[in-house]
Amino acid sequence: MSVTILKKQKIKESLKKTKEKRKNQIPKVYQLKISYSNLNKDQKQWLERIFLEAKWLYNYCIADIQNRLNSKTEKSKQVEIKTPNGFETREITCLSSQMKQAVLDRIKKNLTDLSKAKQKGIKVGKLKFKSDYRNIPLKQNGITFKVLKDKNRIKIQGLKKPVRVLGLHQIPENSEIAKAELIKKPDGYYIYLTCFIDKNQTKEKKIKKPIAIDFGIKHQLTLSNGIKINYSVEETKRLKKLQKKLSKQKKGSNNYFKTKYKIQKEHQKIYNKRKDIQNKIFSLLKKYEYVLIQDEAVKQWQSGLFGKQVQNTGIGEIISRLKNNPETLIPVGRYEATTKICSNCGSRKEDIELSDRVYKCNSCGLVIDRDLNSAINILKIGLEKVETTTIKNLLTDCGEVTPVERKVSARILGSNPYIRVSYASVKQEAT
Ligand SMILES: [Zn+2]
Repeated sequence: MSVTILKKQKIKESLKKTKEKRKNQIPKVYQLKISYSNLNKDQKQWLERIFLEAKWLYNYCIADIQNRLNSKTEKSKQVEIKTPNGFETREITCLSSQMKQAVLDRIKKNLTDLSKAKQKGIKVGKLKFKSDYRNIPLKQNGITFKVLKDKNRIKIQGLKKPVRVLGLHQIPENSEIAKAELIKKPDGYYIYLTCFIDKNQTKEKKIKKPIAIDFGIKHQLTLSNGIKINYSVEETKRLKKLQKKLSKQKKGSNNYFKTKYKIQKEHQKIYNKRKDIQNKIFSLLKKYEYVLIQDEAVKQWQSGLFGKQVQNTGIGEIISRLKNNPETLIPVGRYEATTKICSNCGSRKEDIELSDRVYKCNSCGLVIDRDLNSAINILKIGLEKVETTTIKNLLTDCGEVTPVERKVSARILGSNPYIRVSYASVKQEAT
């Protein structure tokens, strides 16, 4: 057999092996932030430059796709770009040939997508010039990038010193690193790392008990085991100051754009903080075998008086993510009485005001946090509807946080400074 046939056979075999392996894996993308304060001057310049070069190359290529989308462009060390003063030459010094190839591959993919859309009868235009390029694919692990996990660093092709990144701890042991992307965002540079993880490894241990959530209007969740989660990220003073500054600046001026960019950066920071809160709360809820929520009540707030307040809390986001896990979510219809009923004896109390933070039962003497009482009621009402006894039998300890749950909630939520966890208690008073 000739060498080429042997080579082809080898590639075919390894592709088959990979395909087999992937059946038991799932891809997951991890967001790693490049620590800007740890970068030296050369690295900062390089990062700024590489996105510029990618933009030049991209625009150069789509200006004349027929003649430029080829391997010659992949090897070229300079490109011509159009400027207000006519055509100018730009040196490509930072982009490696693999990165250039990846930029051109992206154009090819965009073209295929366009023609597919066209075939479906969708009206499409041409590829547009980019004023900003924010995403450079790093396709080959080991060549265009290399993860140095124990050093919390990633080596990027073209940069001598590896860069320090935040977030590598999220990646489980034994996961297979596939590819990466270098991303530019208003608040800094990121590496998005795609890994393949064993399906079995992702099945985490669940807490075998159903949990109901009472959503408070203001940044608050109360779980039926007594965990109360408060969280809040306010708009910063800096943001307000910048917005004021912008309003006084001349539209379109250099300083105007500078301030606008700073505002974008500030928004991104706030958004990241809120997103992290949502992620953490969601991870905690996901630990439970079953989650019960009173979906309708929240919907009503959103459309009603509290709309704006609810929007900023991210409750809607948490609920929609729970809904994507249908095997764990048990929706409970709207029962107006969850705050009025005693979760212990079932008697009803009409004269409870919104300002009453504690529910005192006149019949059985129960004294309980108002929201906890409501959460336990949601749990009880929800479980009544469930047919399978397996879930019903799980119910053991309403209004009681077990040591395991304390540990889990502290581990997941504890690292976020904007989340406050407390524990509500139940008291049974003698009547
Ligand atoms: Zn009672």
